[in-house]
Amino acid sequence: MKKHFISAMLSALLFLTGCSAESSPEPVQGTFFAMDTVMDFTIYGESGLIDQSESLIASLESLVSVTDANSELYAINQTGSGTLTGKASSLMEQALEICRRTDGALDLSIYPIVRAWGFTTGSYQVPDEAEIQALLPLVDYRKIQYDAATGTVTLPEGMEIDLGSVAKGYAGQLAAQMLREHGVQSALLNLGGNVQTVGAKPDGSPWQIGIKDPQGEDAMMVLSVEDQAVVTSGGYERYFEQDGQTYWHIMDPSTGHPADSGLISVTIVGDEGVVCDGLSTALFVMGLEKAADLWAQSGDFEAVFVTASGEVYITEGLRDRFALTEQYADTPVSVIER
Ligand code: ADP
Ligand code: MG
Repeated sequence: MKKHFISAMLSALLFLTGCSAESSPEPVQGTFFAMDTVMDFTIYGESGLIDQSESLIASLESLVSVTDANSELYAINQTGSGTLTGKASSLMEQALEICRRTDGALDLSIYPIVRAWGFTTGSYQVPDEAEIQALLPLVDYRKIQYDAATGTVTLPEGMEIDLGSVAKGYAGQLAAQMLREHGVQSALLNLGGNVQTVGAKPDGSPWQIGIKDPQGEDAMMVLSVEDQAVVTSGGYERYFEQDGQTYWHIMDPSTGHPADSGLISVTIVGDEGVVCDGLSTALFVMGLEKAADLWAQSGDFEAVFVTASGEVYITEGLRDRFALTEQYADTPVSVIER
């Protein structure tokens, strides 16, 4: 009887301390620039974790940057072969898996096309069709020879690869892993449109992540998320206009032109940031019908699609996890079911 009382007291005490640590912790907040992006991290934990996150991301970037002449990927693109180490090798392996899974809608070898349109430098231009046709044979992820055991990459003559479509998602995922290993139970990592959450909010309720109206400035819906990544690819993120036409930075590897699938934004919610990032780009290319088919065959993500005509579709796993913002309360939302 007495023993029972003591243990009840003990657990009440543990509960109280656990509770006070969780109900009013002060977050640390940090903003830094990496991967061409302003990143904004809020972490319920020690202040040093911001710097640790930043150096983790900087170290990944220094391996896979396409513009840093000292990166492993740069050397591979210059010479046609080389070795990726550590996290870069792991990123390559996972990225190639997404290329296969999306039947090449994600293609890491799209880089020469992206450059021809000026998206690598900001000197935008519509290339000659002849130039695009000359470059297209170089776009084929199946010709990337990659040995996962050694990290060795060999490319056919003229091919160049770019991990930009997946790197930020992986960076967020790695930072979240590191934070969890340090005992962090609550964090919100914003990597410029790629959001990675750790746990729930300190009060135990889910994080509320806004999804932007691709044709406006404001959030059109809010998703409830815990311990997952939310990644959006949108035509509005990087684009230029010429002769009344809009050209954006997400390319269809089968045409060498900006993806023209009828979708203007794709948001992916899932446990693995790298998968969310790769799929957000790929499903944007695939269009609603093929994207919905891929979702139906998969079990590792949910999605929000916005079409050029302003229709909104969500996959059924988000049915109880989304809310339209007040301003968009009248927007019809269709639920895609398996
Ligand atoms: P962002 O990096 O702007 O958040 P994404 O994750 O959608 O957006 O990645 C887009 C980038 O990926 C482009 O800037 C381009 O470098 C590259 N890219 C464009 N189309 C493809 C594609 N079909 N497959 C792989 N990479 C692509
Ligand atoms: Mg992406």
